[in-house]
Amino acid sequence: MGHCVVAAAEEILDKKFQVLDRGFVRLVDYMGSDDRIVQAARVSYGDGTKTLRQDEGLINYLLRNGHTSPFEQVVLTFHAKMPIFVARQWVRHRSARLNEVSGRYSLMPDEFYSPAFEYIAEQSEDNKQGRSAKPMETSRAKMVLDVIRRVHSFSYDGYKELLDAKTARELARIVLPLSLYTEWYWQIDLHNLFHFLKLRLDKHAQKEIRAYAKVLRDMGAKVCPIAFKSFDKYVLGGLSFSEDEVGGLRRMLKGEKHGLVGKEGKRFELKIKGA
Ligand SMILES: Cc1cc2nc3c(=O)[nH]c(=O)nc-3n(C[C@H](O)[C@H](O)[C@H](O)COP(=O)(O)OP(=O)(O)OC[C@H]3O[C@@H](n4cnc5c(N)ncnc54)[C@H](O)[C@@H]3O)c2cc1C
Repeated sequence: MGHCVVAAAEEILDKKFQVLDRGFVRLVDYMGSDDRIVQAARVSYGDGTKTLRQDEGLINYLLRNGHTSPFEQVVLTFHAKMPIFVARQWVRHRSARLNEVSGRYSLMPDEFYSPAFEYIAEQSEDNKQGRSAKPMETSRAKMVLDVIRRVHSFSYDGYKELLDAKTARELARIVLPLSLYTEWYWQIDLHNLFHFLKLRLDKHAQKEIRAYAKVLRDMGAKVCPIAFKSFDKYVLGGLSFSEDEVGGLRRMLKGEKHGLVGKEGKRFELKIKGA
């Protein structure tokens, strides 16, 4: 009992892991580990310490059955730096606590996100909220980057001009674009981190926030390797089905056609094929 100290987590503590061109994530602190999850769960039954295999079985059982409160006993604090448009998506996760750098108080540094070539793509034809999986050809991608960088310089020059004219920092900053980097301390418990990761590792989430989610996932797995293995198996690797889809699966098990038609049928087929 007492503080949980996890050697693999101690090793990455305070180290910056780069994300995108200028961003990072750093694990500042952690409270609890796989041990804390099982200790908290066993308080329900007044049970003592068990073997590693039994602990793993218990964690799997908890996650499979939505018994999530023991996972809330693990708390992680990260320091992260990300473009403002990523921060706007991230901040929608209300179950975390955060403190962000203040553009009213501090001078915002000349740090903007410029996407790497493989991140530059056309608007997707089948997903109104996303980009095509195929990167743009280099000559057009270069033009895109030129425009992005030109606008960065233009708006930062405007910011400096406003500051030179003694304009309040809280007003001068309004000319800065969404690609400007911001940073914050972000604290979240493991149950809510799983929820965040489920949504933000998903292929429907924007590529840039997915890059952060991957790093957060790997850092969390250093603190709670068993819980993350279970999360991968039962949450990320799992699928949920509607009532009609369950009907379709049952018919397929009997050797019949699934019977779902139109868009619903297509969606179902893609889902079970893992596409
Ligand atoms: C791919 C994708 C696209 C998105 N597109 C858009 C978009 O176009 N526009 C947009 O505005 N948002 C968009 N979002 C944000 C999305 O709607 C959620 O706000 C965000 O994912 C946070 O999820 P959450 O509320 O479950 O998380 P949290 O805020 O962390 O909440 C966790 C859980 O706590 C409970 N909870 C928290 N607060 C409340 C509350 N006040 N009342 C009841 N229950 C609560 C809920 O069960 C919730 O699931 C998008 C998200 C994703 C992943």
